[in-house]
Amino acid sequence: MLNLILFGTPGSGKGTQSVKIAEKYKLGHISTGDIFRSEIKSKTELGLKVQKIIERGCLVSDEMLIEILDNAMKKFSDVEGFVLDGFPRTIRQAEELDELLGSRNECVSLVLALDVNPDEVLHRLMKRAAQEGRKDDTEEVIKKRLNVYYHQTSPLIEYYQKQGKYKSVHGIGSVEDIFENICNTIQTVR
Ligand code: AMP
Repeated sequence: MLNLILFGTPGSGKGTQSVKIAEKYKLGHISTGDIFRSEIKSKTELGLKVQKIIERGCLVSDEMLIEILDNAMKKFSDVEGFVLDGFPRTIRQAEELDELLGSRNECVSLVLALDVNPDEVLHRLMKRAAQEGRKDDTEEVIKKRLNVYYHQTSPLIEYYQKQGKYKSVHGIGSVEDIFENICNTIQTVR
């Protein structure tokens, strides 16, 4: 099994690349952000619960996340692993992920970080705001999300570096060039 975490700041290109990775390596693609957006759109109980938190650019509680991930994983059959996009985002989530995969006799294979500088990220997110109208893509909320990333999520870099699983890929350039670099990095753990 190949269990990949696609890591990086909001706007680093995780969504675009994870879809391509999932297709090539026959992995289940799990984007916790996409799950939340779909729940909000359908106005489910979960969606209503998380809407305000997401619109403010804060993180949804760790307790909710692990259950959502467990359910999402169970929906896939016949896959050769998973590519996680937007999860884990805190140390606690990473620890719980280790436990969850451990209970399936599996582990995280590789954490691939898309390396994009803060100016480029801000530029991309502002562009996306204009094109897609995501409620959490206003300038104020973007800044909040980047702040949340640096405080709550970036400690994961050290967490995975200590396990020798963290690899970073240059995240600026054409989608295809970045994808090629990602595939070359994946080959190193196969
Ligand atoms: P994303 O599309 O991955 O940027 O996620 C959009 C929003 O969903 C985030 O800003 C958070 O509010 C929420 N979210 C997604 N994944 C997580 C996670 N692993 N932990 C906490 N909140 C999350």
